Amino acid sequence: MNDDDILKIITTENNDDIESLFAESRKARDEVYGKRVFFRGLIEMTNYCKNDCYYCGIRRSNKKLMRYRLSCEEILACCQRGNGLGIKTFVLQGGEDPFFTSGRVATIVSAIRHDFPNHAITLSVGERTQKDYELFFKAGANRFLLRHETASHEHYSKLHPSNMTLNNRKKCLLALKKIGYQVGAGFMAGTPFQTPENLLADIRFLEELQPEMAGIGPFIPQADTPFGAYPQGNLILSLKMIALTRILLPQTLIPAVTAMSVIAPNGRELALDAGANVVMPNLSPIATRKLYAIYNNKASTAEEAAETFRLLYEKIIKSGYMPDMSRADALAV
Ligand code: SAH
Repeated sequence: MNDDDILKIITTENNDDIESLFAESRKARDEVYGKRVFFRGLIEMTNYCKNDCYYCGIRRSNKKLMRYRLSCEEILACCQRGNGLGIKTFVLQGGEDPFFTSGRVATIVSAIRHDFPNHAITLSVGERTQKDYELFFKAGANRFLLRHETASHEHYSKLHPSNMTLNNRKKCLLALKKIGYQVGAGFMAGTPFQTPENLLADIRFLEELQPEMAGIGPFIPQADTPFGAYPQGNLILSLKMIALTRILLPQTLIPAVTAMSVIAPNGRELALDAGANVVMPNLSPIATRKLYAIYNNKASTAEEAAETFRLLYEKIIKSGYMPDMSRADALAV
């Protein structure tokens, strides 16, 4: 696909064109993965963050938010619950919390690795040094999620304070790849100031990086951020970006992210029908879940909760997919 083809897809409002895009992306997904849908259990380990991203509700300047961090024991208990549900991949996500020094993160990873020798451990704890990433890898982490957020320098500077740069984000992603992590990049659809050309750059960046996973979801305003009054990302645009990514990177794992379910009641199923093939049930303790408020209305998605895992499982089957409880390492790309 040349740039014009991609831009046309990004901007089209023609329903037939959009439907045929989704049909093509489903086909691309089915050829590689069939109808299997994989699970990753999400553990939101801290909502403290030293960064101040304009879109994110757990940004440092949000003084309204009560902060929490989970202890190693609490994290292990989340893993235990996930394991009880049959989940084989744990994703530890959090703000960039200085309390979680590289030593502390490595200790937690080692403890999980000790208790669950065959599970996949994924970290999503933001930008760190290559040395830190190496330490976590040695401690037993296998995968790392770090969305690039936007592949345009100019747009990046409109979403983040000046101490954060796309170059550093890219540097981190390349370091993670080099170390041997299965890497997840990704971006939000419909962030303020985003242009179709920015989205084209996101797709081209993914093609270049060839990440094992790509997380794509709509921007959802969070009231206590500078972007609180901006409109949320468009559903169809988000689905188009999932579909384009699937077509151009057929082997990439693509989650139907929680944000999709927030902007549409059947958002998860629509994402699967646009080419996604992963869901991430939330294993975080009920008490802290609403505090991981990266965007508004997140807590209302009770269905992502482990307690209703069965329901989720059945919904996936009802939508014509096949839940697959294997740890589903990325295919060699
Ligand atoms: N500190 C970690 C985790 C960030 S939260 C890191 O830097 O990777 C995980 C993802 O949530 C972010 O990468 C971002 O793309 C998404 N996110 C944050 N705020 C959002 C919002 N308001 N709407 C939609 N997605 C958001």
